[in-house]
Amino acid sequence: MSLPNSDHEKRKQISVRGIVDVENVGNFKKTFNRHLHYTLVKDRNVATTRDYFFALAHSVKDNLVSRWIRTQQHYYEKDPKRVYYLSLEYYMGRSLQNTMINLGIQGACDEAMYQASYTMGLDIEELEELEEDAGLGNGGLGRLAACFLDSMATLGLAAYGYGIRYEYGIFAQKIKNGEQVEEPDDWLRYGNPWEKARPEFMLPVNFYGHVIDVAEGKKWVNTQIVFAMPYDNPIPGYKNNVVNTLRLWSAKSPIEFNLKFFNDGDYIQAVIDRNLAENISRVLYPNDNFFEGKELRLKQEYFMVAATLQDIIRRYKSSKFGSREHHRTDFDSFPDKVAIQLNDTHPSLAIPELMRILVDVEKLSWDKAWDITTRTCAYTNHTVLPEALERWPTSMLESILPRHLQIIYQINHSHLQNVAAKWPGNMDRIRRMSLIEEDGEKRVNMAHLSIVGSHAINGVARIHSEILKDSVFRDFYELTPEKFQNKTNGITPRRWLLLCNPNLSDIIEEKIGSEWSVHLEQLVQLKKWAKDPVFQRNIVKVKQENKLRLSQILEKDYGVRINSASIFDIQVKRIHEYKRQLLNCLHVITLYNRIKKNPSAPFVPRTVMIGGKAAPGYHLAKKIIQLICSVGNVVNNDPIVGDKLKLIFLENYRVTLAEKIIPAADLSEQISTAGTEASGTGNMKFMLNGALTIGTLDGANVEMAEEMGSENIFIFGMTVEEVEALKSKGYNAYDYYNKLPEAKQCIDQIQGGFFSPNNPDEFRDIADVLLKWDRFLTLADYESYIKMQDYVSKVYQDESKWVEMAIHNIASSGKFSSDRTIAEYAREIWDVEPNWQKLPDPHEPRDI
Ligand SMILES: *Cc1c(COP(=O)(O)O)cnc(C)c1O
Repeated sequence: MSLPNSDHEKRKQISVRGIVDVENVGNFKKTFNRHLHYTLVKDRNVATTRDYFFALAHSVKDNLVSRWIRTQQHYYEKDPKRVYYLSLEYYMGRSLQNTMINLGIQGACDEAMYQASYTMGLDIEELEELEEDAGLGNGGLGRLAACFLDSMATLGLAAYGYGIRYEYGIFAQKIKNGEQVEEPDDWLRYGNPWEKARPEFMLPVNFYGHVIDVAEGKKWVNTQIVFAMPYDNPIPGYKNNVVNTLRLWSAKSPIEFNLKFFNDGDYIQAVIDRNLAENISRVLYPNDNFFEGKELRLKQEYFMVAATLQDIIRRYKSSKFGSREHHRTDFDSFPDKVAIQLNDTHPSLAIPELMRILVDVEKLSWDKAWDITTRTCAYTNHTVLPEALERWPTSMLESILPRHLQIIYQINHSHLQNVAAKWPGNMDRIRRMSLIEEDGEKRVNMAHLSIVGSHAINGVARIHSEILKDSVFRDFYELTPEKFQNKTNGITPRRWLLLCNPNLSDIIEEKIGSEWSVHLEQLVQLKKWAKDPVFQRNIVKVKQENKLRLSQILEKDYGVRINSASIFDIQVKRIHEYKRQLLNCLHVITLYNRIKKNPSAPFVPRTVMIGGKAAPGYHLAKKIIQLICSVGNVVNNDPIVGDKLKLIFLENYRVTLAEKIIPAADLSEQISTAGTEASGTGNMKFMLNGALTIGTLDGANVEMAEEMGSENIFIFGMTVEEVEALKSKGYNAYDYYNKLPEAKQCIDQIQGGFFSPNNPDEFRDIADVLLKWDRFLTLADYESYIKMQDYVSKVYQDESKWVEMAIHNIASSGKFSSDRTIAEYAREIWDVEPNWQKLPDPHEPRDI
């Protein structure tokens, strides 16, 4: 048992944690003790720290249920248009602290735990560390869905997230002998205190079978059924008494799952085989920006979509307005009452599934059904990388979803008639725009299906949306320009500032009050104090404290001495060639070579941190991790280098680690090849926390530079146009290798085994990629990157200038609140109005 937390007094001083009400504290302690006793079935003599965490989580959840029930009741009675966000990923991280913050009870909970600590030795921060991350996502796309849920609840939208309750989330990354090893993420092992199973709303999902002609049309028969069991998760808005629902489906085998064995009397085998159907929700596919055409993944996508659409239609039909209950029998008002947002093409089977229900089950005409479907659905594109675009073989669809394949063909038929009507005789255009690709194995292009089946298509940053219109989907833009939109991504300021950086939140509040957490554009007021020495000193102090705290964690975890006065230079994101962790690595090697060449030359100290998971099947990405670890080994243990330069690979980057690292960053690395990163959201988290960015004109970096002014960001490298020009001219890495001696030395060292003396060939393939098949033109940006890094070091030495730039970053980050993004989706795609009104405070449930 630890002593009462000595940080408590400090934590209490932080006013963003809310005013402490003595009555709340007393009630909270009672609730906590009751949960320890009745829910955990423990007394204080035998309770573990984990029991205390669960007692705390259940007590916090109790504060939320009345608001949850009331919110859902309110939606039922007012019958507003519902927004359905469909995503195969929700990268939620932890919920305890976020829930306390959004309910405005963090101060009371802190105080209650502090008081309890005299008798139980509880440290609330230690308890918070026992919560498992809900890692149901890979990276930016999944985290975006989580930020959107927070913003939709905060903006009072009648919104629902729908997804899959994976039993295993994104793998845990271990680094063993400098290599990534994956461990299964058994996140539900100790139970999930937030979710509520809803077996009464379990729904059937069909697979396989075949299609027959019946009098009224088509019928999908002889299918195999898997049940979808919903688990509801509360999504509290920020201090507005709204609690929305994230409904995650878990696969459940039907009782009569394996008829063959039951009929043969092999009861034991039949029960054992129930596992097969339940594999559908077993595990999250760990690919980021990569399509792997696996049958189980296709089943996951349809499973989520089929269960969700049944739920949406059930809720649409059983509506109540005011005191009038009525069962809707027609679908005329469906698009006025329902908006479905597809998070990438992963849930795009919603389009043929909605058509199937409306035509085959509800007996609407094809044209009527198509009008309803396209007015309901909207599609967000997240990538232009060709290897990431979903293209399912028709053979796989034919076997698993035969009726959907027929519907897709029929959609394609009318679509191509429209194309032919606009461009008569243009066979090449028809081939390019078809939903069906005929070269090689026949496949369905799911992006084409999504565009045709939606009334709105959006990219996730301005430059990305422009690329969609003039390159990737140019033909479709020419057919229906009015469908194409931009919705620049955002992040929730509650988790990415209030929660992760309370000290910075507090000094912001001292200056401009507390409204900024829901009106982030108010941060612009901070510009007044950009040159103010006192405010500058406070900003520097908070950053230094955050750096010191991270240093202590790193020294403990990695056994590397950290110079907390050095530049904390951080690149955290999934490992991918297009994100160019290799370019960063080349910079570190360059600095190392300079120190070795001239050890007594002045040097601005740096601690470079790189973190991120590689997809388990992405050989080169794993090799990049290995190279970073090997370079780190050489650099960190060279006595000549000392504390001038360190390179640390951060193990197991995930939401919880992001919350600890980002507040301590001086420099944020956003160095993808221009035209490849759709938006990025990591870039926004760093900006909001006062790190400066070194980056290319890619994704949201472009708009960040515009907001803060180009004098406050370190932009380098080729533009999209220059990348295009170099590619058409023909990129030859040797041009740069032969011209740039520092680059040549780095590559020769990688090539020749300098960082892998025990196996000189270890990194040959990396050198080969850089010199021979680098699609991402790393060496073409090397020179301008190194020059800009040298400038970064120079500016860092001028503390007052650096902090002034940092203040401009914070003050300019208002646009990048996901509240702004969601307000735009609401008005420009979903046709609903944000509602800033609070719902009434809840009262306790009536006695039975
Ligand atoms: C924000 C976030 C990302 C996305 O980072 P990018 O730099 O935009 O790729 C990925 N993983 C985690 C854990 C995040 O929090």
